[in-house]
Amino acid sequence: MEPLYEGKAKRLYTTDDPNVLRMEYKDEATAFNAEKKAEFANKGRLNTAITLAMYRMLETKGVETHLLSQIDEVNLLVKNVDILMVEVIVRNIAAGSFCKRMGVEEGIVFNQPIVEFSYKSDELGDPLINDDYARELDLATPDECAELKRKALIVNDVMIDFFKRAGLKLVDFKIEFGRTKDADAKIVLADEISPDTCRLWDIETGKKLDKDRFRQDLGGVMEAYEEVLKRVEGIS
Ligand code: UDP
Repeated sequence: MEPLYEGKAKRLYTTDDPNVLRMEYKDEATAFNAEKKAEFANKGRLNTAITLAMYRMLETKGVETHLLSQIDEVNLLVKNVDILMVEVIVRNIAAGSFCKRMGVEEGIVFNQPIVEFSYKSDELGDPLINDDYARELDLATPDECAELKRKALIVNDVMIDFFKRAGLKLVDFKIEFGRTKDADAKIVLADEISPDTCRLWDIETGKKLDKDRFRQDLGGVMEAYEEVLKRVEGIS
């Protein structure tokens, strides 16, 4: 079956139910807007399991997601939502593009989290935007932007606490949201939450247990993802 949509790390397929899609997690990894590519055996399985555990945990804390159920090791059934073309990034500690853009050292701990929006466009390299851009480009209304920010900060609070119990520091993460297609359209968390989309450092050693191992050629990429899954499942 042809995918309805194929992204860098996942494929989306239709199902018999128009309200339901199948999301398949791939083994491919990309970084730096797909300039760097590789395939890691088991990445799809690990990210499926980690996303599933994170979504289930967030649902118990009142955060709604597009998750419906798991089909197998690399496939989840999700609600067919309209993905907002705004990526929401939350940063607790300076890393990645923040350091590059602002010329600061990695590791600075922010007093309060920074929330950023970027336009979900591979062609443009996901440029940084703000509420005014989102409004004028019809990506999200001002009320929706406020809701995205509010929800992202709740997700951050819940995940900081959860990962802390797993011995991990939540440095930053990217999340996406979708509008449900019901009459009372709601904005729910969508896409994935995995070491591809979060920076996680070991609390004791500071060891990076996320996609930076691939971005920075640190080695042991899948071992790090395995470690995250083990810890997440250990406290779920
Ligand atoms: N991120 C992501 N997808 C993107 C951009 C960022 O999942 O298209 C995640 C990234 O893994 C990190 C956080 O969002 O956990 C902040 O990323 P940053 O802006 O520092 O960009 P990067 O270092 O990926 O260029």
